[in-house]
Amino acid sequence: ELANKSPSLIVGGCMLNRNQSAHQHLTYTDVAIREAIASGKNHLAFDEKILAKIEYKQSIEQAIKLGLDRKLFSVAYQPIIDLMTEQPIGFEALIRLQTEAGTSISPVNFIPIAESAGLLNDITDYLCDRVSAEAVEIYKLFKNYDTQPYVNVNISPSQLIDVKRTVTALKHAEKSGVKINVEITESGILNDDSARRIFNVFQTEGFSIAIDDFGTGHSSIQHLERYNFSTLKVDQSFVSNIDDPQAYRFLNAIINLARTAATYTIVEGVETLQQKLLLMKMGVRFCQGYYWGHPMKISELEIYLTEKYGFNKARKIDLSM
Ligand code: C2E
Ligand code: CA
Ligand code: CA
Repeated sequence: ELANKSPSLIVGGCMLNRNQSAHQHLTYTDVAIREAIASGKNHLAFDEKILAKIEYKQSIEQAIKLGLDRKLFSVAYQPIIDLMTEQPIGFEALIRLQTEAGTSISPVNFIPIAESAGLLNDITDYLCDRVSAEAVEIYKLFKNYDTQPYVNVNISPSQLIDVKRTVTALKHAEKSGVKINVEITESGILNDDSARRIFNVFQTEGFSIAIDDFGTGHSSIQHLERYNFSTLKVDQSFVSNIDDPQAYRFLNAIINLARTAATYTIVEGVETLQQKLLLMKMGVRFCQGYYWGHPMKISELEIYLTEKYGFNKARKIDLSM
């Protein structure tokens, strides 16, 4: 198995320690070899940092298994705003994991571990079930508006994901009346065959696809030209230091590129009034960020929409384009 993954000679080792058995030394050496392969090195000595990393991975894996078992996962929804009306028109669904002790683990940390442990399909199933049930509530909140709300669901472009299963679950979620879009990160999709296959399946099944974290991956202009993307989400890193003239020029260029390559552009990570105003000046229409709202549980979302935007009240506003 190891030989297939790497054609070159891999050397792994560990320090001899009289207090440890020969078996333990062998285990540590094996771990060092596997870590060397995973990190693309051809030699690695076992040390405490590797052990800590492995223990951390194992503890997160345990938390994921427990989370699935005891339903400790939940979904938070962050509004996506149309600057023309400054009203929410859709939401991004973001998964959350609580430990039994009540602390939360970031998806940035647990999604890659879930992926390597083969638990991503179970998490995605859970996410789709929750979104299906909660989209019914979202649809109700929009009943006085002429626009159909949407929920964007993040899908990892992993070859291990069961696409058919996810497509079926997301189609079920659309029975609520809410439109479901799929967000896939740019890094995988443009360079990786299996990610491209996943992209094609969702597109064939009629889902709009938003390319996430646009500007941070490895896309070439040619790739952008070849695909007719529906939506590009400009990564938040381009917005954070907008005060800096160089960063401002870059953001402007990225936004113009996104506009050329896709029908819709959403700028992520907007936190301040100043950022909002600058983006408006650049002609940006769709935004997402703490300035309008943090990701919220469905129960909080109802209060947020009612109190901040007067949703649920008997009025009708045309939010269509
Ligand atoms: P993402 O898809 O780029 O999601 C946006 C992240 O930025 C979210 O972090 C959100 O809470 C955060 N964010 C939103 N507005 C602001 C802002 O104004 N400022 C700053 N600094 N941050 C903001 P979160 O929820 O921790 O999610 C992190 C990543 O985990 C997501 O990045 C996504 O890649 C992944 N993820 C989340 N949920 C899922 C899921 O259900 N499935 C998969 N496969 N990945 C997920
Ligand atoms: Ca996303
Ligand atoms: Ca993003």
